[in-house]
This record gives sequence, structure tokens and C-alpha cells, in this order.
Amino acid sequence: MIKDLIKKEARRQKKVINLIPSENYVSKNVLAALGSPLTNKYAEGKSHQRYYFGNEVVDELEDEVKRLVLKVFKISSEEWGVNVQPYSGSIANMAAYLASVNVGDKILAMSLEHGGHLTHGHHVSWTGKLFKFEHYGVGHDGWLDYDGIAKIAKEFKPALIVCGATAYPRQLDFKKFKEISDSVGALLMADISHIAGLVVGGVHPSPFPYADIVTTTTQKTLRGPRGAIIISAKRPRPYANGGSGKTKNEKEILSDAIDKAVFPGLQGGPQVHTIAAMGVALEEAIKPSFKKYAKQIVNNAKKLSEELGRLGFKIVSGGTDNHLLLVDVTPLGLTGGEAGSKLEKAGIIVNKNMIPFDTRKPWDPSGIRLGTPAVTTQGMKEKDMVKIAEEISTILKQ
Ligand SMILES: *Cc1c(COP(=O)(O)O)cnc(C)c1O
Repeated sequence: MIKDLIKKEARRQKKVINLIPSENYVSKNVLAALGSPLTNKYAEGKSHQRYYFGNEVVDELEDEVKRLVLKVFKISSEEWGVNVQPYSGSIANMAAYLASVNVGDKILAMSLEHGGHLTHGHHVSWTGKLFKFEHYGVGHDGWLDYDGIAKIAKEFKPALIVCGATAYPRQLDFKKFKEISDSVGALLMADISHIAGLVVGGVHPSPFPYADIVTTTTQKTLRGPRGAIIISAKRPRPYANGGSGKTKNEKEILSDAIDKAVFPGLQGGPQVHTIAAMGVALEEAIKPSFKKYAKQIVNNAKKLSEELGRLGFKIVSGGTDNHLLLVDVTPLGLTGGEAGSKLEKAGIIVNKNMIPFDTRKPWDPSGIRLGTPAVTTQGMKEKDMVKIAEEISTILKQ
């Protein structure tokens, strides 16, 4: 029975050491919201402008969740529009592209091989098929090369620049990205899916007010349900011809365009139970204890990285400033797949990952990616990281 499998998975989650940087353990209250009768309700449309009746409570709920979003990011409703309906980060990114540029326009983003996301224009993703992407990456030291990005932007003349990553262990300089996007007349989008909890917790710089559009998932460091949020500027979209030859309505407010791209552009009824669970997670993220949590995530990642470095492991970029680190396992005579599988047998769960300038393929790359959000939720501290590093070393070296 499915009920038994759910119990079995809950037991597995308790038993393992989970070092997947995009995963976390939500609170009982977030789980309760996800399992609440809100899942029964259809609420197509924006709050107070629905296609279904009986939404007076849902309207109140969605309004409150949007207020919480503005509050945690310390921004105002006069300048920023919030959409909490995207089913996932991938859909949120597609909505952001469709609302801000034309199909066929040029977008500049970080390459998957260097830490970007599939939805940042990889050719297997529809984002890469519908728009003309160019990619930037890191230098041989593993750090973003802003001069290099500025140079590519000048030559490529994108309509939109995307910053944000899924496997980059350093802080993002949103101000520098803004200078680059301004210099070529492009809009700036920050995809903070991985680091949203760190931004809210004050241990990573905020993309506000630099980015025109900010997308984020809510299930990662933010410790909420699987879902996504788009925050965008309430101002007319400054339109630069992005290479497709088509023009967009220059008077349209960016945040209105985003709302339309989400519904009815890409989605139907929002998952109201998920929106409620986001609200619960945001209420938790406002508390002082979340600041402590975010700080501990980074301290734990730094400790894990230092210890692994001390044990002779090759850490991409030489360490970490955030919640994750990339380890090149090829000096041990292993591939990322082999290392991940050895660790799994010992109850340590990671994911295999490309490293910058990888000579191997995504399915069996040269690296593994380790992160500390989940173990930090379980209360682990620096001393536990020392033990985990030793364990990883023992397993991978035997
Ligand atoms: C996780 C992630 C996404 C996609 O989120 P899903 O909810 O898995 O669709 C998009 N962008 C970045 C940077 C991510 O890390």
C-alpha cells in the first residue's frame, strides 16, 4: 500500500545523512498545510479576480502569503509585484522569460557545466529551444569572471541577463550583474532558488533592488514546500530589441506580464495547499531562529569544505561562501557516479555533478556536490561536519 511506502520513505529520510544541497526537511506545520483541505479548492486567476466562486478564504490566504514574501525580502508592494502560484522553479523561469522577452530573443545565462540550471537555456530544456541563449561561466579558478561576462554581453547584446546557479559555491555580486545588464540595455533576472534562505537569513547579499525579476523555488534553503515565487518590478518593461525582430508592448508593467505568463499562459489552477505551506515556511523564516539557521548552514559548509580540503580533497574554487561545495573526485581514481554510489551504500546521500571544464559527461561527471541545509535543520554543527568529512574520506579512499 502507498501508505506503507510513505512510512518507509520517512524512515529512509531519518536514517541517512542527506548532503543534497537542494533538499531540506520541512517543519510539521509546513507538512500539515500541504496535507490540508486547501488541496480541494480551484482558484484560477489572481486573488479577488477568480474564475471560481467560494474563494473568499483563499483570497485572504494568497494576499497574506504575498505580504509575507515582501516582508522577508524587505521590499515594498509599491515597487514590487509578487506571484506565488508557479508550480515549480522551472515553470517560474519559463514564465519570467515569456513575460520579459520575445520568443527567439537573446538571453545570456550561466552554463549548466559551470553551475547554471537546465532552465537557463540548456539545449535539452524548452527554454533553450524557444530562446537564443549564450552562456557564461567561471574562470579556471572556479570563480565567476565578471569582466568576461561583461565582454560576452557586449558582443552578444542580450535582451535579458540571468544570474543565479545551482552549483556555484560562492556569493553572487548582483550589483556587478546590474552594471553589466545596464551597460547593454538588458533586463536582469536573478534566479535565487538555491540561496533564497540564505538571502532571507542575511548571510548572502540580496538581489534587491538590482534585479528586475527574481525567481526562486521554496523547497531548498527556504525550507518550504515544492513551489516557486516570482517577484518583479512594477514598472513598464524597458524594451530593447532582443534579436528576434519583434517588439513587445513597451507600456506593459513587467509584474502584470509575469502574472499573465503564469496564468493563463502556462498554468491552470494554483496549488492552494502549496501556497499555504509557503506562507507557513515564510512565517518561520521571519523568526530570529531562521537567521541562526542560515548562519549555521554556511558555517557548516565552510567547516565541511575545510576538513575535506585538509584530508586532501580537491574543492572547486578552493572552498565555499554559501551552503554547498563541489568536490572533484577524479584524483581518487573515481567518477562522480562511482563516488556517489559508494557514499549511498554507507548512508551518505549526495549528487553527482559536473565540475567547471569537466571532460566527462553529465551522467557520470567528475564531481560530487555536497550541501548542508538538510543536516543543519537536523541540528548538526561544525563538530558533526568534522565527523562527516572523515567518514566521506574513509569511504572514498578504500
Ligand atoms: C532548483 C532550481 C530550479 C528549478 O526548480 P524546480 O522546482 O526543480 O523546477 C531552477 N533554477 C535553479 C537555479 C534551481 O536551483
